[in-house]
Amino acid sequence: MSRKIIISAGHGGKDPGAVNGNLIERDLAIELRDLLVIELKALGSSALIDDNKNALKETLAWLRGKFGSKDILFDIHWNAAGSPEAKGTEVIIPDTASDFEKRLAQSVLKTFVDIGFKDRGVKPEGSTARKRLGWMRPNAENVLLEVCFITNHTDIKLYEANKLTIAKRLAVVLNHYSKL
Ligand SMILES: [Zn+2]
Repeated sequence: MSRKIIISAGHGGKDPGAVNGNLIERDLAIELRDLLVIELKALGSSALIDDNKNALKETLAWLRGKFGSKDILFDIHWNAAGSPEAKGTEVIIPDTASDFEKRLAQSVLKTFVDIGFKDRGVKPEGSTARKRLGWMRPNAENVLLEVCFITNHTDIKLYEANKLTIAKRLAVVLNHYSKL
């Protein structure tokens, strides 16, 4: 079978997400999403993306009717913390995750850990600060990536130096899972 891949750049429009100096979560996520789309195309795959004007609520509204329960909803975020020490990658899945969601999330996480990011694990949404995440509500295979910390210098340097590799490897992962 073939699953649709839908990629959202976390924040958009008037919602910048986390900001640290000139680093803006919304813009980082849009850049990575666009790199991912290019790399998926190179693999003969494709992804559905919205325009960049949407905050989460509008994105979820836009999504309605565009996916089935087996399709992949992939949301890209950057983490932020009060402490500049906090670093690493984590991947969020629903509290009652499917095996597919668990495996996809592990593969996404491994992509970053292999490059040198700290492994913060695959986490159920209930363990996040908000407890329940809008992205986990649509009936699909829902995964939310927190790439790394916008508030950590080492994370940002590691990301910038490796973003093309990250996009290539993530595209391979998404393409692989879209065919399972
Ligand atoms: Zn975010």
